[in-house]
Order: sequence, then structure tokens, then C-alpha cells
Amino acid sequence: MTKEEITDILACDDPQKIAEVYRHAYQVKQENVGRKVYYRGIIEFSNICTKNCFYCGIRKDNTSVPRFCMSEDEIVETALFADEAGYGSLVLQSGERGDPAFIDFVTHLVHTIKTKSIGRLGITLSLGEQEKETFQRWFDAGAHRYLLRIETSNSTLYRRLHPQDHFYARRLQCLDELKEIGYQVGTGVMIGLPHQTFDDLAEDILFYTARDIDMIGMGPYIVHQNTPMAAVGGYDPAHNFQMGLKMIALTRLHLKDVNIAATTALQALDPQGRELGLQAGANIIMPNITPVQYRDRYQLYENKPCLDENAAQCRGCLAARIGSIGEEIGYHEWGDSPHFFKRKSSSLT
Ligand code: SAH
Ligand code: SF4
Repeated sequence: MTKEEITDILACDDPQKIAEVYRHAYQVKQENVGRKVYYRGIIEFSNICTKNCFYCGIRKDNTSVPRFCMSEDEIVETALFADEAGYGSLVLQSGERGDPAFIDFVTHLVHTIKTKSIGRLGITLSLGEQEKETFQRWFDAGAHRYLLRIETSNSTLYRRLHPQDHFYARRLQCLDELKEIGYQVGTGVMIGLPHQTFDDLAEDILFYTARDIDMIGMGPYIVHQNTPMAAVGGYDPAHNFQMGLKMIALTRLHLKDVNIAATTALQALDPQGRELGLQAGANIIMPNITPVQYRDRYQLYENKPCLDENAAQCRGCLAARIGSIGEEIGYHEWGDSPHFFKRKSSSLT
């Protein structure tokens, strides 16, 4: 697809044409990654963050959120629930910290989860920017996928979304380093950001291709009142939701064999959001398995869903929702990105 074709679809508001794009994206998904949905049980284990992204509810300067960090035992117990429930993989996510105690904590944690699940659980990390040495230590401990969103591929827009000491170039460098180490690399953007244009979003999709990305996790931008970005007007959640679905479909049409998540932010804006995401071309769901007592302190944006539903309840609810659209769940499978293996084999030849 050319950039013009992508922007035309992003700008299109003819419901019939949009439905046709979703149908086509679904067909491409079926042909390239199948109709199986893979789970990554996400544990949001700490909201302590040293950064100050202007859009995020757990940014350092938001003093109205009490901070927490789960203990290793609690995280491991939650991880083993995921293993028993047949969720093949985990995502460990938190605010960003680069201090030695945190690096050691995560290294030990990853190693313990790998050992106690006898290697069964695939581990994805989403812990922000780190030194290459740290990425390597966590890889050696057993993590094999890393999610680091670029947030937007427009460096000027990136600057407007972050304080002066957060660097777009550093983010790009991290993506390169993760790939060099051998991780399956995931990135993504927020959709519907203030000042973001259709052209920016089309460039985001071209960025995924140019960087040979394996996994995509993107979702609508959702305002959080205790952030500097809440003061910027023009927030339109319904628009951001539709654009979120369109971006999934266009990414599937353009990249074909990557893993694409139907993210929680879609569900925050529409109770059917994740199913609609799957029908627009996504193939990954990240059920929230964070213990309920911590969830209200990990709100990156408002109206985060399922704040009071525990992981066992979510399991049943989600299975029914996925069954209702005729898809199968890949229990006990890692569901790695087919693109990753193609990338690896082509780099060997
Ligand atoms: N600290 C790590 C991981 C946690 S944040 C990091 O920043 O990479 C994970 C993602 O949440 C971010 O990459 C961002 O895209 C998303 N996020 C934060 N605030 C958001 C908001 N208000 N609306 C939608 N997504 C948001
Ligand atoms: Fe911290 Fe990540 Fe939120 Fe930025 S987006 S403030 S790094 S948790």
C-alpha cells in the first residue's frame, strides 16, 4: 500500500468502505497468522516511574497516586496462575526505573518464573528504556520479547509529548539494541494524540515496516485528568476508537505476518473493543492478571476496564467473548510472531 492509500482510508468516513477494509484485513490475518488468538497475561507489577511523559497517569509528578511495587513472591504466584490457566505467555510491565536494585530485582524475577514454570511461560518485558547491558541481562535470564512503543514516529510530535530530557533518538536506539540481542521486538504508537495527523499515522505504519518490527501494540490515546495533556482540548474518544481499529486493519494489510495486539485501551473505550480489534486483524490479547488490589493504582489513562474483576473471572468472560466471534484460543502456546522467524532465517541466508 502506498502512503496515499493509507491516508485515504484513515480519512474515509464511509461505513461500507471501512467495513470492506476490515473484512480484507481479516482475510489477510487468516492467511498469514490464522484465526487463533494468543494470550499474554499482563502483570503490571509497579507504578513507580522516574519519567514524566505528559499523557500518562502514573508519571512521576502525579503525586495523587500512591506508589507500589509487588514482591517477587506475589508476582511469581500470579505468573503461576497464568501458567495453570493455560496462558502461554506473560507480559511484565511497570513504570521505568534504571537503578541497580530494580535491574537485579527483574533479573531474579525472570529467572525464578522461568524455573518455576519449567520453562513453559514465555516472558515479554515492557519496562521502558534501559542500557543495552540491562536488556542483555534480562534476555539471558529468560525473557525473549520486549515491548517498547515509539509512541509516534514523528520526532517533532514526540518532543511535544515529553519533557526535554526524554529523547526520541534514545528510544530508536533501544529498539536497535533489543533486536541485536535477539529479542522479538514490539513497538507501537498512541492513536488520536493532540496534533497528530493522518500523515503521521501513515508514517507510523511505514516505520513498522522500515524497522522490520515483529509485534505491534498500539491503541487509542485516552485522556487522564491528572496529566498536563488533559489541558489540551479536542479529545474525541469515539474518533480515537475508530482510528484505533483502522490502524490495526491497515497494519495487518501492510505488514501481514506480524503479531498485533487488540489492546486494553480499545476495551476502555468500548466494551466490545477487543473483539472488534480481533475482527479488524489483531491476533493477540493481553488479559490483565494483576491482583485486583493494585489495579486502581495502575491507571495510565481513565476508565481502565475490569478494575474489580479478578483474573479467574476475566478468563471466563474473555473465552466467551472470543468464542462469540468464532475464534480459537491458543492455550498453552507461546504464539510467537511468524515474522520474527522469517526475519531470523533470512538473516542467516
Ligand atoms: N513505562 C513503560 C511501560 C508502561 S507504559 C513504557 O513507557 O514503555 C506503557 C504504554 O502505555 C506506553 O508506551 C503508552 O503508549 C501507553 N499509555 C500511557 N499513557 C496513555 C494514555 N493516556 N492513553 C493511552 N495509552 C497510554
Ligand atoms: Fe512512566 Fe511509561 Fe508512563 Fe512514561 S508512559 S510516565 S515511562 S509509565
